[in-house]
Amino acid sequence: MYLKTINLRGFKSFKSKSTLTFEPGISVVVGPNGSGKSNIADSISWVLGEQSPKSLRGSSMGDIIFKNRQEEMGIAEVSLIFDNRDRTLDLDFSDVRITRRVYSQGGSDYFINSSPARLMDIQELLADRGIGKGLYTIINQGQINEMAMLKPFERRLIIDEVGGISKHKSRRDRSLAKLGRVKQDIERIEDLLEEIERTMLPLEAEAAKAAKYSEVLNQLKKEEISYYIQELDSLNKNWKKKEDFDKALGQKLEKTRQKLVLHSERLNDYTDHISDKMDEYRFWENMANKLQNEIGRLKNIEELAASKVNMFSTLAAMFDKTHDYPQKKDVSIYQRLKDLRMLVSKYISRVSSLLSQKEIKEDGLQINKRMESLLELFRKEEKEELKKEERKKIEKLLRKGCSNNFSKAKNLLAALKVFKLRADDLNNGVLPHFLERKKEIETEKALIEELGTKVNETKMEKNNIENEVYKNKLDREQIKEKTKDITKYIVDNYNLSIDYMLKNYRPSDDLKRSRTEISRLKKQIKGFGPINPNASIEYKRIKGRYDFLNGQKNDLVQSKQKLEKMIKDMETKIMDAFLDKFEKINKSFNYYFKILFPLGKGELTLLKEDNGELGVDLKADIGNNKFVPLSLLSGGEKALVSIAFLFSIFSTNISPFYVFDEADAALDDINLDRFLSLVVRFAKKQQVILITHQKKTMEIADTIYGVSMQSDGVSKIVSEKISEKYAKID
Ligand code: ATP
Ligand code: MG
Repeated sequence: MYLKTINLRGFKSFKSKSTLTFEPGISVVVGPNGSGKSNIADSISWVLGEQSPKSLRGSSMGDIIFKNRQEEMGIAEVSLIFDNRDRTLDLDFSDVRITRRVYSQGGSDYFINSSPARLMDIQELLADRGIGKGLYTIINQGQINEMAMLKPFERRLIIDEVGGISKHKSRRDRSLAKLGRVKQDIERIEDLLEEIERTMLPLEAEAAKAAKYSEVLNQLKKEEISYYIQELDSLNKNWKKKEDFDKALGQKLEKTRQKLVLHSERLNDYTDHISDKMDEYRFWENMANKLQNEIGRLKNIEELAASKVNMFSTLAAMFDKTHDYPQKKDVSIYQRLKDLRMLVSKYISRVSSLLSQKEIKEDGLQINKRMESLLELFRKEEKEELKKEERKKIEKLLRKGCSNNFSKAKNLLAALKVFKLRADDLNNGVLPHFLERKKEIETEKALIEELGTKVNETKMEKNNIENEVYKNKLDREQIKEKTKDITKYIVDNYNLSIDYMLKNYRPSDDLKRSRTEISRLKKQIKGFGPINPNASIEYKRIKGRYDFLNGQKNDLVQSKQKLEKMIKDMETKIMDAFLDKFEKINKSFNYYFKILFPLGKGELTLLKEDNGELGVDLKADIGNNKFVPLSLLSGGEKALVSIAFLFSIFSTNISPFYVFDEADAALDDINLDRFLSLVVRFAKKQQVILITHQKKTMEIADTIYGVSMQSDGVSKIVSEKISEKYAKID
């Protein structure tokens, strides 16, 4: 493989399209100062991906586009065409054309065989073949002087680059960056974990406390429910007992009620009976009273009649004694008459008030009438003196009347006696009846009294039973209340149905023990102090997050360990590769140094930089007793040392072509010969393009190109393959 053609257009001083066609072997480019030779080297660097405008001797990428006083190109384009018949490049083309284009407005394009490509594609395609920036394919003008003065770490970087170590290093650096990020992540997670722990650890304790608390609560629940099941059972039994008792009481009450009804009925019967009898009794009593009254009345009448008999007998006797009535006022008779009149009027009033019997009344009235006329007579007598005849008449009349009345009264008395006898008989007939009834009634009354007592006793008995029923009812109410209370307590406290409770819990076998246990558990619960009921959930949530983060941390720690191991492996590999490369380069350096300084000795040594990195020191003894620091070497000497170093690099990292821009500028003839001998040796295998002003250099060229520039500032390729003609020009 070799660089076959360069096409330039608008690149730096190459305004119009210019083409350079190379051959394998040594090509030399010549031309006056400022004609554009170095621009050709720049154009190659540019296509190979040079990004720094400074390396291309500009201040911006726009500076590489052709521009003069008159005009300005809008585009710069350079193509490198490689002969790839040997397929050095990994593309199935005999010619590989790589193009880079840049626009004055900005933006640039790459092409591989006219297909758009990325810079990376181009770098990858070429770097494997030792072509590229940092691989010293192109040695720019003046660079050769700088090479001798490189710092140890810069030399080491060159070895890294040409040894392909850089890409390992950048991989390692990426891994290191990743490791850094992982470490940061771990730190961040550790901070988070620490922060979480601050809340999690107390929560863990709280959760444990809450768990213990709920365990005790559960124990209490179990114990209480067992206790209450047993309680409910005994209440239930008690209830049944009371119910049975109630039934018994009911039966007893019914019996007592029946008894009461029976007694009451009997009492009523007797009471009714006695009331009937009482009427009869009262009838007889009335009758007896009436009779007694009648007897009394008869007695009175009898007394009256007796007094009448008495009076008239007295009167009659009185009339019999007094035959002669005094001429003058006879006081005694008048007095007697006065008394008599009093007696008669008394009699009249008594008879008229007492006598109801017709005959007695009429009789009485007749007597009264007579008595009245008699009294009238007496009144007259008091006023005027009666005549004898008249007196006699009156006396006669009186006597007659008295004896009449006397006998009538005697008859009445006799009649009354008979009547009274009859009344007594009658009375004697009624009274026994009355007394008999009275006795009967009294017996019955005693019976009624006895029955009343019985009824009262039964009533009391009934009351007692009813009281007992009531008390029993109260007891049952109490049992009911207690059962209700227990049920409510269970439902309120544990939210359990009784069915569930009975199904899932066993009754306590020892109520006393249960009570002790319940109070102990309650005391224990009180002793817990404040409980965080959410602690467990909170703890689980936080613990979940903690575990998650911890898992992440572990993953990170694992990948950190992996990375560290990987980095360590890479470091070893890098170090091994570096040392290997270093050894080889050092060997080559010794060799090339000896060629360039036959009396001297050059050596590369490793040293440790202040930052711990390795550096490569260059020790040069150029002979002739000149063992001085590199900085004190002459320009040519420095160039030779650089060349030795460069060639030692080339020898271990072979590029298909090299470009040297006036690497030979500072060399005298002898040293130039030594340099050229090396170039010739190299050119046997690799293409070498030399930009030079040295005639000796031109002499070794297989092909020479001339570059010129006119007053318009435009470079031109004036000749190609002038090697044959070169002699003539010279
Ligand atoms: P020497 O032998 O002195 O090294 P050279 O042949 O290597 O000279 P170059 O450095 O290749 O010369 O070319 C420099 C010339 O290119 C300068 O004259 C400069 O003005 C010109 N040049 C550089 N960039 C541009 C540009 N963008 N447009 C026009 N001309 C440019
Ligand atoms: Mg130059």
